[in-house]
Amino acid sequence: MILPKYSIGIGDRFGRQGTAQLAAVLKARQQGVAVTPVWNKSNREHSIIGTSPADVRTEADAAVASADFPVKYFVDADHINLSTVEPFIEPSDFFTLDVADWIGRAAAPKGIDAFIEEHRRFIGALTIPGIDEILDITEQRLRSIAVRYLLAIQEAGRLYRHIEAAKGRDNFITEVSMDETAEPQGPVELLFILAAVAREGIPAQTIAPRFSGRFNKGVDYVGDMARFKREFDEDMAVLAFAAVEFDLPRNLKLSIHSGSDKFSIYRPMRTSMKKFDAGLHLKTAGTTWLEELIGLACAGGDGLALAKEVYAQALARMDELTGPYANVIDIHRDRLPSPETVNQWDSETFVSTLRHDPSCDQYDPNVRQLLHVGYKIAAEMGPRYYEALQKHEHSIAPNVTGNLYDRHIRPLFIGP
Ligand SMILES: [Zn+2]
Repeated sequence: MILPKYSIGIGDRFGRQGTAQLAAVLKARQQGVAVTPVWNKSNREHSIIGTSPADVRTEADAAVASADFPVKYFVDADHINLSTVEPFIEPSDFFTLDVADWIGRAAAPKGIDAFIEEHRRFIGALTIPGIDEILDITEQRLRSIAVRYLLAIQEAGRLYRHIEAAKGRDNFITEVSMDETAEPQGPVELLFILAAVAREGIPAQTIAPRFSGRFNKGVDYVGDMARFKREFDEDMAVLAFAAVEFDLPRNLKLSIHSGSDKFSIYRPMRTSMKKFDAGLHLKTAGTTWLEELIGLACAGGDGLALAKEVYAQALARMDELTGPYANVIDIHRDRLPSPETVNQWDSETFVSTLRHDPSCDQYDPNVRQLLHVGYKIAAEMGPRYYEALQKHEHSIAPNVTGNLYDRHIRPLFIGP
């Protein structure tokens, strides 16, 4: 099973926007660009919303069945580990092995020594095509990388083999993710992490490193753009080199867990993809839930009232909602509008405050981040929220499709 060159992890918190999301992929197809949709959802999201992995399969199948022609697609068990994988095995055909919890815990000394011996040939001055500077690999550097990452990749190997035993080797896509960790991995770390991945026999087609800079939920990238550009380019070079060197799948590509909407890095990413003639997997799952709120607010009346209610409750329960996302959120609490203020807003004010248009004066990244993690409030509304989605579908669907296509797929995969 092969993941095509361009793919997008579109998620869908509440599982109602599959057709509207697919419409964005079909628009790209009309432009002659194939982007493979992947419906991804993590165990954390399932438990907060009260859905199960099988629901994602049902949604994806139904959305694709409604298209006029066959569409290749996948269902991604996002950020799973050995303790959470079981209910994902049957319905999923893409597995994102999350090893972040194991990073920094050292493997057995014998294993570390063996890893160093096997990769001794890289010690010294190492040239990688596409990277200008010559990399200086010392034994000490190699050892510190092995100490930090080897156990995590061994754990990924155990998880991979568990899934493989149940599904059969060529029946699913494998991703290794390390993005939910405090320290970024640079190109040299990535090189030896990939060596360890290959050594475990994991046929990874995508890998999600932690990049430098802040990937806050729902808002744009914050960080040193020049540094990101260089790092991204060098990661691309490392992947091309490692795929051949370690005999990993030749379509191995980067997976960007964007936390939604990292618009300012799409251009350097696109430049780099062209330079290396490389593919990319972009995960931008949470963005669709905010389009549901935008669509509800656009509808006015009870739709707008519901969106305001979500805001008021999210504000009241801010600490609880932001807790699990503390590392990926920067909200200026004192700049958040009061529920009384928001209650005065008309549709247009609510929408322009929330919609991710950085050129709009009214756009407020504080409100956007809070609502991005506020989906638990809507989940607790249960049938009332689902009924509102259905009632205001005509208002929501164009926002879901337009957002995915205009702000994500077009700038990244098609070009301005
Ligand atoms: Zn992630």
